[in-house]
Amino acid sequence: MLTKAVIISIGDEILYGQTLDTNAHWLSGELNKFGIYVKKRHTISDTRKEILCTLREAEEGVEIILITGGLGPTSDDLTKPCLLEYFDTYLERDENVLNHIIKIFTARGRQVTEVNKAQADIPVNGEAIPNVLGTAPGIWIERNEKVFISMPGVPYEMQRMMTDTILPRLSKKYVKRGLIHRMIRTIGIHESNLADMIRDWEAGLPKEIKLAYLPGKGSVRLRLTAKGEDTDHLQKLMQDEINKVLPTIEKFVYGFEDEEIEEAIGRILMERKMSLSIAESCTGGYLSHKITAVPGSSQWYKGGLIPYSNELKNEQLQVSLEMLKKHGAVSEPIVLTLAENIRKAFHTDIGVSVSGIAGPTGGTKEKPVGTVWIGYSEQDKRAAKKFLFTKDRMLNIQYTATAALDMIRINLAKN
Ligand code: AMP
Ligand code: MG
Repeated sequence: MLTKAVIISIGDEILYGQTLDTNAHWLSGELNKFGIYVKKRHTISDTRKEILCTLREAEEGVEIILITGGLGPTSDDLTKPCLLEYFDTYLERDENVLNHIIKIFTARGRQVTEVNKAQADIPVNGEAIPNVLGTAPGIWIERNEKVFISMPGVPYEMQRMMTDTILPRLSKKYVKRGLIHRMIRTIGIHESNLADMIRDWEAGLPKEIKLAYLPGKGSVRLRLTAKGEDTDHLQKLMQDEINKVLPTIEKFVYGFEDEEIEEAIGRILMERKMSLSIAESCTGGYLSHKITAVPGSSQWYKGGLIPYSNELKNEQLQVSLEMLKKHGAVSEPIVLTLAENIRKAFHTDIGVSVSGIAGPTGGTKEKPVGTVWIGYSEQDKRAAKKFLFTKDRMLNIQYTATAALDMIRINLAKN
């Protein structure tokens, strides 16, 4: 049997839309890595009735019940009293936790009050989970072969608790069957076209493997999931299937597992010892931001300019004003010139440029909102491509950055 878990996020602020429930998202990802299947997630208010009802419903059919939030010392935090009621138990002070709390308060030069000390009170049928980053310990309670784990809502405290204590304990105690994933990352092809290309392969997948299409902005991830006892066998089965499908979609595959397109570009440029510079107009720095978020990008990315206005395109990158007037800034000759001139000015192997109409205004009949030209220049190679994205400004910026990175990948593949 696959180990199943449920996640309960407690907090009025989440329901009001003031706090994003990042805890549930993070927990799902981590449990998944450990081969634990998350069956359901609940987001509920700080009320006794909701907490008790949800606990009752949530524990059905799962081995692990993870709860975050509502563990603070103030009156609005109700998780601990509700646990007492749910398990019909009472509190006892945990000396280790009390010492930890006193240590933290003393180090911060603060007085320890009775309210603070009460955080060391743990239900007698459970045990405290150390919180090295804060004062509220987690609580681990077992009943009928199930474990109930209550954690603070503060994301970094909860995460540290999970990584240090809870996940190692859970995997030792419960995980007997595997849940494994592989990811094939594609770019530059629409989800439906991809589905058409791999239809036969998909139909012939062994029953252990489930396929999911996960579209992003300009990219689609293909996730293969397998469940079973023999993880070595499953790994081999997945690899065989990946090997089978790759030749059909190779042109669109830029990487595997967690790799983002900007990381893949960095990997290729490092292998080839090549450098890159960028002149970005409509993305306003977003493309450079994505690139510089990759650790080690200074080894291959030299820098960029944001010549947003025509004057700057002219002054900084020698695009003639006549050309701008004749073709418009969003055109093939302009992006070709921008790409070539940034490459020369910054002394890089590759120059890339983007120019587009992000919207919502500025579109014309010939060049509607979403029109984007991307240019590429190497010493003996140049290319430009036109795209038509969406009517939404932010989406256009994101699509453009992805397409520009893909343009680099495609042109390097031709070398
Ligand atoms: P609590 O443990 O309920 O006192 O929560 C402390 C703080 O953690 C809250 O003020 C929120 O900012 C944050 N928090 C609580 N629950 C979540 C959650 N599910 N996801 C992200 N942050 C949260
Ligand atoms: Mg709260």
